[in-house]
Amino acid sequence: VLLRPRSLEQACQLLAERGDEAMPIAGGTALEVLRRVGLLGQPVLVDIRGLPELRVVEAVDGELRLGATATLSEVQRHPRVRELAPLLCQAYGRVANVRVRNVATVGGNLAYADYRIDPPAALLVLGARVEARSQRGAREIPVRDFFRGPEETALAADELLTAIRVPVPPRGARAVFRKVTSLGENDWPCVGVAALVVEDQLHLGLTAVAPTPGYARVDVGGLDLVRAQDAAESAAVALLDPIADTRGSRRFKERLARVAVRDAVEEAWPQ
Ligand SMILES: Cc1cc2nc3c(=O)[nH]c(=O)nc-3n(C[C@H](O)[C@H](O)[C@H](O)COP(=O)(O)OP(=O)(O)OC[C@H]3O[C@@H](n4cnc5c(N)ncnc54)[C@H](O)[C@@H]3O)c2cc1C
Repeated sequence: VLLRPRSLEQACQLLAERGDEAMPIAGGTALEVLRRVGLLGQPVLVDIRGLPELRVVEAVDGELRLGATATLSEVQRHPRVRELAPLLCQAYGRVANVRVRNVATVGGNLAYADYRIDPPAALLVLGARVEARSQRGAREIPVRDFFRGPEETALAADELLTAIRVPVPPRGARAVFRKVTSLGENDWPCVGVAALVVEDQLHLGLTAVAPTPGYARVDVGGLDLVRAQDAAESAAVALLDPIADTRGSRRFKERLARVAVRDAVEEAWPQ
């Protein structure tokens, strides 16, 4: 069953009334894969693509607000995002291929919570928050607290992710996103790393190398590049718990992550 609410309130009402049998559908890219392999069952799908207020991307109060149903391509190409947080363009621009990016939404990407999704690396270092809404009210969840396990998030069954709020990094901050794939350029990552240097703080975001994306903050005050890389690598190692899959063994991913972290720090390091 596909339901098309005419307002956000109605969407929340449907999710509340239908309980566990209902789920939102946005771009449908992840749900289609689940359907094809027989894992979707027969849910009541609440289609949120027709709600224009959920698609807005804007800069407000020193933050970027990415509406949940904005597509990855829309965010990647958005002039305000390019100007204020180009790290997001790097991360969203590396997800899958252009056909997926043109349909998949930023809300669906986070809510899907596959352990390999790329964007959380960037969202974690930028200190982003998720806006959630249900009939019970609205709340914000830091992305750092959002992931609870593979395909498991802090969202309740009746909650919609309505937007992602991303603080604009200060001028002079340096940021880089690196994605390493082992099966092909546009494939899922073997490891994803974001590094952001703001004054003497290094923020690290990691994806695909643990059941959930990981974040660490490292004080690099007074350190030279090599020592900063050592410190970052140690912080990253504490977050590693890779899942072996067709893209690599645990050992391979651990080694790759260490190299990727050192490279990302080098690239983000102030010259
Ligand atoms: C071939 C292929 C390759 C891919 N490669 C990558 C990759 O390299 N890197 C990467 O990061 N991702 C990759 N992905 C995953 C892709 O990013 C996700 O499929 C996509 O972002 C999901 O967004 P969607 O809008 O299509 O979600 P949907 O399929 O519509 O929904 C996904 C899940 O999120 C829930 N949901 C959707 N919107 C909301 C909302 N607003 N509030 C609450 N719950 C919601 C749905 O109920 C469902 O459980 C790939 C996908 C495919 C099909």
